[in-house]
Amino acid sequence: MKRLWRLVRGEKQEDLSERTWFPQIEKVVELTAAQLPVVVLTGAGISVASGIPDFRSKGGLWEKFDPFDYASMSSFREDPARVWEMLRELYATMCGKKPNVGHQALAALEQAELLSSIITQNIDHLHQQAGSLDVIEFHGNGAYLECLSCGARSSARKIPKQASRKHFSPPTCKQCNELLKPTVIFFGEPIPFHAVERALRAVQKCGTFWVVGTSADVMPAGTLPAAASENGAKVIEINLVETSLTHSGHCDLSIHGRQEEILPLLAERLIERCSKG
Ligand SMILES: [Zn+2]
Repeated sequence: MKRLWRLVRGEKQEDLSERTWFPQIEKVVELTAAQLPVVVLTGAGISVASGIPDFRSKGGLWEKFDPFDYASMSSFREDPARVWEMLRELYATMCGKKPNVGHQALAALEQAELLSSIITQNIDHLHQQAGSLDVIEFHGNGAYLECLSCGARSSARKIPKQASRKHFSPPTCKQCNELLKPTVIFFGEPIPFHAVERALRAVQKCGTFWVVGTSADVMPAGTLPAAASENGAKVIEINLVETSLTHSGHCDLSIHGRQEEILPLLAERLIERCSKG
């Protein structure tokens, strides 16, 4: 396990003991170790350290493209080529991005059998790339394309690179030549039934629910911390800043700092603590 951590955190480990959140680490470890397994809800904040800016942040995608206009089913049906102007930038943003140590820390916790599921609002597939197996993608993912006419599905593997080039034509269906839609959830589309069902089952079984890199105010994912809390789980928030969850009454502990510093340390301590029995 030590070797794994050197890989995850790098040979030269930064001294984090001066961070304001540092004293809270042991509290999180104690709370979590007492009530396993962990289920994690992640959002855009976990991928920022991979170079994918939060779409809602300043300079983010939603500043340029109004999501209710561009990321809506009715807009796609009306004029898919126009929606692809936004999708092209979205894919270009994800081009070549790799999981960061936060993603890797969660994958290591699953491998150590302390974490049972990750519910993510992200569409970037980085949890899976980090090696996580049980990933519930609440908003779909950008790894596939589908035809709304005939239902044909294909891989979107080449799209990020193509979208980064000067000339780009949106992908079309080989059967009927219609423009394809990524398998991400647009406004006006329901969350996939199996994702909701799996998420609720994960929440029911968890002892501790971590909320990482999300203000958890996008519905219906935002209802999950309250559901976990009402089910007896401890809810722990790991975010850069305070959110509406912090003072919601459904949060047992908040720790505010960079997830890419907190999660590796937390995972390391938790794995050590639980291996001692
Ligand atoms: Zn088709």
